[in-house]
Amino acid sequence: MSYQVCLLSGDGIGPEITSVVQDIIAAAGVTIEWIPCEAGLSAFEKHGDPLPQETLDNIRRTKIALKGPLATASGTGFRSVNVSLRKELQLYANYRPAKSLKGVPAPFKDVDLIVVRENTEGLYSGLEHTVIPGVVESLRVITETGSRRIAKFAFDTARSLGRKRVTCIHKANILKLSDGLFLDTCNKVAKDYPDIEYDDCIVDAAAMKMVLNPHQFDVLVMENLFGDILSDLASGLVGGLGVTPSGNLGTDAAVFEAVHGTAPDIAGKNLANPTALLLSATMMLKHMGETEAGKKIEASLFAVLEEGKTLTGDLQGSASTTEFGEAIIAKL
Ligand code: NAD
Repeated sequence: MSYQVCLLSGDGIGPEITSVVQDIIAAAGVTIEWIPCEAGLSAFEKHGDPLPQETLDNIRRTKIALKGPLATASGTGFRSVNVSLRKELQLYANYRPAKSLKGVPAPFKDVDLIVVRENTEGLYSGLEHTVIPGVVESLRVITETGSRRIAKFAFDTARSLGRKRVTCIHKANILKLSDGLFLDTCNKVAKDYPDIEYDDCIVDAAAMKMVLNPHQFDVLVMENLFGDILSDLASGLVGGLGVTPSGNLGTDAAVFEAVHGTAPDIAGKNLANPTALLLSATMMLKHMGETEAGKKIEASLFAVLEEGKTLTGDLQGSASTTEFGEAIIAKL
């Protein structure tokens, strides 16, 4: 079977790591017709638009995309393409597993948790304005509909993966209306899943508990900003951004991407670690129904990491991006 998948190579290290990932997928025997799509800084410089309509149309048509990191300026410049993509395509669920990998230096062993982040609402709704000079407002939007669909996603994910517990992370003690609604909605959805344990935890306490003992968590569901922060924290527990994948899922499309950025300090030097993007790609293959190929690639990747002979610089090795990719292909 042949598939069409949109490819957003991204900025910085994006093109280097996407090219290695494409080679590995082809070597695993999956035929993909990649549809190159422009986005980010390069698209902005060329077309004056960081997210051209054609890119959105292509993703809407193929319903699936693999995406490298995109550069976004802080404070100024165009709105984050990542945020726009999620809103435009209604990719409401950000799925971020954090699993310890043998051979990857990390503060803990055997961590295996999943952060489910609401991807379209909260403080990322883009509703910001200056009230008077020196005073600005950013609106944090929480809806019952948005909260219900992300809660259901978390429970459905837990059920399909045989997970035991879902924990709602919130700040309803202070943000009584917005997080009150989020918590109340999660509490209601939980009643429809009697087979899954359910509890809740205030976000600041959750951050402390994750650092002290991450093994106590299973599936965590939360709104956008808390999810952004705690999912990076979860990445740190298993070895950092270079090894953590993510999927942005909606009813009409899915975009898979590494959680790290463009790594401008090492871009163009063939030094980047493609692991996070590769694990995002195996998540994508499983989503497409190519589960066996996804598992085969993961097994080769895990073997290379565990062996420790061909690792990239971020994992204290001296291999290049391409050498790391070749080592994985050799084990397929
Ligand atoms: P970053 O993730 O790009 O880099 C942080 C550090 O991690 C750097 O030292 C970098 O070399 C290292 N690193 C990251 N990925 C690596 C990899 N695959 N292999 C080896 N080392 C790796 O974060 P930043 O510097 O804060 O952001 C740079 C740019 O990326 C910004 O413009 C930011 O907006 C953008 N960004 C994009 C995304 C995305 O597209 N999803 C996510 C985060 C940041």
